[in-house]
Amino acid sequence: MSISQQHAALSSGQSSARALAEAALASAQQHAGLNALITVNARQALARAEQLDRAGDFTHPLAGIPCAHKDLFCTTGVLTSCGSKMLANFVPPYSATIVEKLAEAGAVSIGKTNMDEFAMGSSNESSYFGPVRNPWDLTRVPGGSSGGSAALVAARVLPFATASDTGGSIRQPAAFCGVTGLKPSYGRVSRYGMVAFASSLDQAGVIATSAEDCAEVLQVMAGFDPRDATSVDIEVPNYRAELVQAPANLRIGIPRFAFAEGLDGGVRNATQSALRVFEQMGATLVDIDLAHAEAAIPAYYVIAPCEASSNLARFDGVRYGHRCADPASLIDLYERSRAEGFGAEVQRRILIGSYALSAGYFDAYYLRAQRVRRLIAQGFAQAFASVDLIAMPTTPSVAFKLGEKSADPLSLYLADVYTVAVNLAGLPAISVPAGFSEGLPVGLQLIGPGFSESRILAAAHAFQLRTDWHLQAPNASAANSGTQS
Ligand code: GLN
Repeated sequence: MSISQQHAALSSGQSSARALAEAALASAQQHAGLNALITVNARQALARAEQLDRAGDFTHPLAGIPCAHKDLFCTTGVLTSCGSKMLANFVPPYSATIVEKLAEAGAVSIGKTNMDEFAMGSSNESSYFGPVRNPWDLTRVPGGSSGGSAALVAARVLPFATASDTGGSIRQPAAFCGVTGLKPSYGRVSRYGMVAFASSLDQAGVIATSAEDCAEVLQVMAGFDPRDATSVDIEVPNYRAELVQAPANLRIGIPRFAFAEGLDGGVRNATQSALRVFEQMGATLVDIDLAHAEAAIPAYYVIAPCEASSNLARFDGVRYGHRCADPASLIDLYERSRAEGFGAEVQRRILIGSYALSAGYFDAYYLRAQRVRRLIAQGFAQAFASVDLIAMPTTPSVAFKLGEKSADPLSLYLADVYTVAVNLAGLPAISVPAGFSEGLPVGLQLIGPGFSESRILAAAHAFQLRTDWHLQAPNASAANSGTQS
């Protein structure tokens, strides 16, 4: 059931928060084979649900709705591992702002979702807790890094889960799992209490089954937070009300590079059919050249590792997180704690970042990447002078096989070709289910100017009123293999 269906069942007294939480926990158990949850908090969830039932006030659209948080959002008293051995013992003494806000609204968290280690990856295979499986085909990846959140929503265990997107980690797993993923504008949602990966790119958001449900959750998550210096103090629109104000005569820019070489044929066909739906709704499709978009991958894969190497310097075995046994000296403590605590992909990023930031290389790599980043942002600004939205596939292929790209990190990085530019420019974007190829979901990405969440949500909602791709769920028997975790 969607958020609005569960909300209706709660407000009419047909269901209780406890019944919904119990159902979600039972379903999570049935889908244990997806390996989508790192921590399950049954006792806490049921206690909170009972408290809500006793209060009996289900006026808020999220009151009594079960959910889960990506395991990089700090949760008081609950393990927050970030998918890493480094934080496999970290129980935060405070909660992220969005965790608090959702709890205040009455959402009932049943646990923490599996993810790529420190949100680095596009397949969920870098998690210390093992890979998540795609509920449409258990031999395939769910995408990453928010693979656990996407898989749980796709398998209809939960109506929504929180997620984060540094270079595509909300949109790409949403596309691979056939669900809707919203990455808000940089600064729209507080990141206080979200473990940092690349601070100039990271953004918190949501994965749900529809744009309508994403709007409900964004309504609660969005807003200024004095505890996050990058949080922007501008009014939060009424996303729910603006959802139905789909702008007539939309001009949608279609970047030429996105339909050139490298795009899988089935994904191309599904995306093009989806775009025709927009035309039928009165939109005009305009071919555009998104200046420098092809440079987004190299720029991103310099900037993100640089910032990661700096952010991850705090994990030194001294203050918190993994500490090696019997260190012989302080240097030995640092070296072994980090060597043992971080997995291969995280170490690779730290090495790349430290190298690119070192004296002599800084100008050649980091500074140059920042300049390219500015050009990419300007390219979007130029495009938005003549179009309302930009549309393109979310991913160049459907979900690939587990292990298929593990030996070749570069091929995994290239899978982010349509998502990373959005983060470099700080823009909002959504991925909506737009059809199938080889029996696997395809995602269509809609990108808007900064802080135009209402516009992309309304366009996505209008599309979902005319299509039923977002209503299709994976065959339960494929996903119900409780023994594989
Ligand atoms: N796949 C990208 C990376 O590995 C993006 C990850 C993310 O958005 N957190 O860096």
